[in-house]
Order: sequence, then C-alpha cells, then structure tokens
Amino acid sequence: MLESFKVDDIEFNLDPDTCFWGIGEYPALEELYNKVREDITREMQNLRFNTDIILLYLNPTDRCNASCPYCYHFNDIKARGIDMSYNHIESIINKFIEYYDDKNIDGSVIFHGVEPLLLKDDIFKIIEIYKNDVFFGIQTNGFLLNEEDTTFIKENDVKIGISLDSPYEKTDDFLRGKGHFKKINNVLDWFNGYKQLNINTTVTKHNVHQLSSMVNFLIEKEIHLCLMNPVRGTQKSALSFRPDPIILAKEYIDAVNLTLKSTKGGYRFVIGDFANILLGIVAPSSRVMLCDISPCGAARRFFAIAADGSAYPCSEFIGKEDFVGGNIYQNSINDICRSQNFEKVRERVVEKIDDCDTCLIRNICGAPCPSEIHSTDGSMYKKSFYCDFYKELIKHAFRVIYQDEVRYVLKQDVLKEMYYLR
Ligand code: SF4
Ligand code: SF4
Repeated sequence: MLESFKVDDIEFNLDPDTCFWGIGEYPALEELYNKVREDITREMQNLRFNTDIILLYLNPTDRCNASCPYCYHFNDIKARGIDMSYNHIESIINKFIEYYDDKNIDGSVIFHGVEPLLLKDDIFKIIEIYKNDVFFGIQTNGFLLNEEDTTFIKENDVKIGISLDSPYEKTDDFLRGKGHFKKINNVLDWFNGYKQLNINTTVTKHNVHQLSSMVNFLIEKEIHLCLMNPVRGTQKSALSFRPDPIILAKEYIDAVNLTLKSTKGGYRFVIGDFANILLGIVAPSSRVMLCDISPCGAARRFFAIAADGSAYPCSEFIGKEDFVGGNIYQNSINDICRSQNFEKVRERVVEKIDDCDTCLIRNICGAPCPSEIHSTDGSMYKKSFYCDFYKELIKHAFRVIYQDEVRYVLKQDVLKEMYYLR
C-alpha cells in the first residue's frame, strides 16, 4: 500500500516499509509496484538484517591529546590510559583478515578515536604490511599529523577523516583545543586536494550558524567531501552543546544548497550525510553510512574494539558495560557477534518505537542513535531528540529529487537504473 507523503505541494506516494516511491498517477505506480514489490522487499530485508561484519573500528588507545567538551567517550575510559601493543594490534588485524577472507568480503579497518595517532608508528607499520589484505582508514583530530605523515597516507591510499568544527579559529579552538585550527590549516595544505580525505564537523550550538561558511572554507581548501554530524548527547557534558533541531535543519539545508550551487558551477562538493539520505531514497541498498538504517550498522555490519580488547556494538557504546559482546583476545568474531549484548542492539528496530512506528520516513531516517537515546532516556526505544531535523532534511532530499538535482549530489555513473515508469 502506497501512502501519500507531501513535500511542499508535491505529493509523493511511498511505501514506508520498502522505500518504494513515485510521483504521478497512482494506478500506474501501484501496477509497477506490484511487479517489483517482492524483489524490493527482499533487498530491503537484506539491507536491514544482514549480519556479516564488513568493518572494524579499532581504538588502539584510550588516550587522547585533546579534550573536546562534547566528547562521547567516558572520562574513566580515557583516564585508564591503556595502549594496545603492536603485537596486539597485529593479532586483531590478522583475525579480521581471516574472517573477511572466509566470507569473501572486501573488509575494512578504521583506526578510530579516542586518538589513534598517539600510536602512529605502530599503525603506519601495520598499514604498510597489510594494505593489500584489508582497506584501512584513520579518523583523527589531526593534531599529530606532520608533512611526512600526509605523504605516507597519500602514497598508501589510506582513507582519512579529520575533525574540524569551524572555519573560524576562535570557535574551532574552543571546541577542538587551542592551536587546532592553525594545525589543520597546515595539514590540509600538505594534503593538497587528496581525494581520500574528508572533514568531519561535529555540529553544536556553537557552530550551527557557520555551516555554509564551513562549506565555502573547505572548497577553498580543495576538499570535496565533509560529514556534518549533530553532536550526540551520549555523555551528559554534550547535552548543553546540542543545537536546536529546527535551527539545525535550516542551517544544514542552506549548506546543502550551497554545495549544490558549487557542484553545478563545476566544483563538486558533497556533504556525506545528506548524500547518504538521498541514496536512502533513490537507491536504498547502496547506503554507505549505516546510522540511518534500522537496525543501524552497530553490532550488525561493524563493531568497535576498545584498547583493552573489549568489543562494543559501535564506538558510541564504548564504556557501556551492558553492551560488551566479548573480548577480541579471548573470543572469536562470530561469538562476539552472536552475544546477547550485541543482539540487544540488532533487535532495536524502528517499528518498536512509539511515533517512529507510524512515521512514513522511518526507513530513511532509521531513528538514530540507540546509544545516544539509551544515555538520554534510559532506553533505546525512544524517539530521537533530532527527529524534527531528520524530518526536514529528508523532505529536502525529496525536494532535490523533484528538482532533478540528484546528479549534483550523487555521481550518476555509480547508479544503475533498475525500475522505471515513463
Ligand atoms: S526519529 Fe522522527 S523522523 Fe525518524 S523515524 Fe522516528 S519519527 Fe520518523
Ligand atoms: S546510530 Fe549510533 S550506534 Fe548506530 S551506528 Fe550510528 S553512531 Fe553507532
């Protein structure tokens, strides 16, 4: 059954369960839908419930050289200061390579926060040895990168995400630590337009009005991709940093429109989170980021390992003992995935949440984030603080489709037309 979903005065007909949608004559749409429903349902089931792990977030150290005020890590985890030894990191990498090979998966490992580059020498050595066996990525605050490192990263084709919260020194240094802005400016110059680099901007009430300026700044720095993530209230200290969802939606949409203008003008620039939402509408099963799928990717398509070897559904859960799925030094990847604590997160589907269960865009939004909501509401089964933001952003994605501007966000050559009605 297709349901009416209005954006401005445009009427879309949508099946919220499969994300099939169309504009125009209802009987013709329904006829096409009846023909393809079975295939699409199967595809959606696979997208939502496939449990093969394709990615590991490896946190080799508990330590950090910054102290961002909204950090999602527990202070007691950071304070214990455990570092993995080189041998420990190598044994984990080998375990995952074996798992990926067994399943015939092109898997990835991302060295993730707290701050992985505190163990830079070990990580770079691992990348050099194992770069042909697994895809590597690094997520860093960027403080420790020098010019030689950027050459190494480029030569080894490593994906890298660098945090930067503002195009203004005062705001960025307030959020990310003194000296951060100048440092990242140098780092971006050294990377000199490297295509595997993206910027991660955590959106708070302190930079929410700077998102469009951020887009302009990054374009000047020859960056093509950034992620703009609203800060999660997983830690109490982050709650006062959360931007108002309606203001956030307006500023975010302005920034998206600026990227469309830039791409139309010849310089492709994409906000990854928005591109992922658009993919969720035009090609649902090709979504790359897994927060806006329900259940999300945590404990299902990836998991995170903390410096003591404990396995958590996602980095956002690190430190929550009720969600530990085992220890990578003692348990197999399959045992960790089968653990009851991981199952708890996989069971959290949008259909079990009041309001979300009847929301027409529930399988485009996914009702993230279970860890944030667990922290703020004491249960994963509540609606997100950012609900209104998701609603507005998804409506804007439908607007972009209606205005025939998808090609300015998603590259057409990577999309394949499967079902059409002329
Ligand atoms: S969080 Fe809001 S937009 Fe998302 S599924 Fe729930 S009701 Fe819908
Ligand atoms: S929604 Fe939260 S728990 Fe799920 S993958 Fe995203 S950050 Fe991790």
